[in-house]
Amino acid sequence: MAIDFRKEINIDTIQNALTDSRGISLQVLRLDQLHPVVSGNKWFKLKYNLEAAKASGAKGVLTFGGAYSNHLIATAAAAAAAGLSSVGIVRGLHGKEKLTPTLQSCREYGMHLHFISRAEYGLKEDLVFLEKMKAQFRDCFFIPEGGDNDLGRKGTAEIAGLIPVDITHVAVAIGSGATFAGLRNGLSDEIALLGITAMKDGAYMKEELSSVILQEKANWTLFADYHFGGFAKYTPELVAFMNTFYKNHSIPLDMVYNAKMMWGVFDLMQQDYFPPGSKVMCIHSGGLQGNASIQAQLCYNSIF
Ligand SMILES: *Cc1c(COP(=O)(O)O)cnc(C)c1O
Repeated sequence: MAIDFRKEINIDTIQNALTDSRGISLQVLRLDQLHPVVSGNKWFKLKYNLEAAKASGAKGVLTFGGAYSNHLIATAAAAAAAGLSSVGIVRGLHGKEKLTPTLQSCREYGMHLHFISRAEYGLKEDLVFLEKMKAQFRDCFFIPEGGDNDLGRKGTAEIAGLIPVDITHVAVAIGSGATFAGLRNGLSDEIALLGITAMKDGAYMKEELSSVILQEKANWTLFADYHFGGFAKYTPELVAFMNTFYKNHSIPLDMVYNAKMMWGVFDLMQQDYFPPGSKVMCIHSGGLQGNASIQAQLCYNSIF
């Protein structure tokens, strides 16, 4: 793969009055530093999909996402680096007239954008719809929305290898759940895995995750109440938290996933969820480009 990734992945320590008072070690696995665009978990989800695309002889990859999708832009950049073309099937026809910064970047990486209505997008896993798309984009290897397939989870399972063995809890944000499921499959059972859902009513993920997490794997919990109104929704409190967190710890968080994950972990600490002596590792899954719409409210720069 032609993308040049950092070999070392930093682990930062967060120490403050809260961690001190609860006797907890809190660390952050900085996957956001892997690459400014193909950041964090997206690289792991794409890795084996791109390999499979090449092995299949496809000229390009096709995938699905919304107008602000981290997955679309990561796919566009990673495919370009791998010498593959890319097609993005974009949810909603309205985005066509005025491209979001995300879609603009996708196009700069050479992604062909194909807009479909929200209703049609809802069929993205329907076999008849997919056959139609396959006929239209014959040379493409199809990757589902969010990179959420067996190959994606095989990649995210490798994140487990970056986590020190003495960690007691791992916390990660959930979108499609591919990162969470891969991590659960890759981590030892003794480590508790906590997933904070980024969208409203995320509890439905429990069933979906059960079907892709290995049956013998237990010790995982979903937290569905830290969504701040829904996917990509935020409040002034969340933005203030992001700014304070940056000032105190020099770590930039994205508004869609990691700010909510970190808020959740702080709230759980406050509630004495973690026994004293716990060693908690938060996965920073990247996604800073998702801050573009609130950049003016942030004290740090998220645009690369
Ligand atoms: C896509 C994304 C997630 C969600 O990952 P899933 O594997 O879809 O659950 C989390 N954080 C960031 C920054 C993302 O871009």
